[in-house]
Amino acid sequence: MSEAGDVAEAAAVTAFWRDLGLPGLIDIHAHFMPPNVLAKVWAFFEDGRGPAGLPWPIHYRRPEPERVALLRAFGVRRFGALLYPHKPGMATWLNSWAAGFAARTPDALHTATFFAEPGAGDYVAEAIGAGARLVKAHLQVGGYDPRDDLLDPVWGLLAEARVPVVVHCGSGPTPGRYTGPGPMAEVLARHPRLTAIIAHLGAPEYAEFLDLAGRYAGVHLDTTMAFTDFLNHLAPFPAALLPQLAAAADRILLGSDFPNIPYP
Ligand SMILES: [Zn+2]
Repeated sequence: MSEAGDVAEAAAVTAFWRDLGLPGLIDIHAHFMPPNVLAKVWAFFEDGRGPAGLPWPIHYRRPEPERVALLRAFGVRRFGALLYPHKPGMATWLNSWAAGFAARTPDALHTATFFAEPGAGDYVAEAIGAGARLVKAHLQVGGYDPRDDLLDPVWGLLAEARVPVVVHCGSGPTPGRYTGPGPMAEVLARHPRLTAIIAHLGAPEYAEFLDLAGRYAGVHLDTTMAFTDFLNHLAPFPAALLPQLAAAADRILLGSDFPNIPYP
C-alpha cells in the first residue's frame, strides 16, 4: 500500500461503501490460488486466449501479500478465496492449498472445489469437515456436466450441510458444453434446497437465472463483472430486467473476480 494509485483507489472504494451506509464489504467472488496455477490463469488471459480474443491485462498482477493488503485497504472484511480445477485429479490438492491459505488469512472464507470424478463426494465431505464454508464449481473451465451421477452426492451434501456453492454456469463470456440454465436447473430440481450462487448474474442468460432465483429460495446471484463497461460490451444487462433484479435484492451478492480482471 505504498503506491499513490493504491491509496487513491482504496479511498474511492471506501467512499463508495460509506456512502451506502455500510460497515464494509463482503466480496463473495475473489480468487486466490497456488502461485503456479494463478500464473497459468494470468497467462491464459494475457495471451489473448480469453473470450473473443479480447485484451485482458490482469489489473492486479501483484504478489499474494499485496493482493490481500489491497482487499483490506478497500474495506473488504471477508472474501471468498475461490479456486477450481480444469482437469481430474487436481481438486484435493487445490483444497489443501485453500485450507492453508484460509488458515493464514483470517478474513478469507475457507473454500473448496471439486471435479466430476470418482471420490468427489468423499473429498468434498472431508473439506467441509475441515471447515470449508464456500465451494466453487466452474462448469465452463471444468467442462463437466453438473448432472453427472458422480456429482449427485456432492450436491446432496452441500444442500444438507447448507454450504453455499458459487457456480459459473452462465454461457458468458464464452459458452461451454454444459453452461446455460438447463443443466443447473435440473440439478436444482433434484436438490431444491441447494444454496447456489450463480456467478456473473448468470451472464448472458440473466433472465433465465433470475427466474431460477424466483423458483428456488436458495438460489442467489453474484454481481461479478456485471455492469462494468467490459461485460456490457459482451453481454449488457437488459434494462427491462432491473425491476426483477431489485426485487431479488436480498439474494444478490457482491462479487468482483479480483484480481483476475482487466480493469480496476
Ligand atoms: Zn471468477
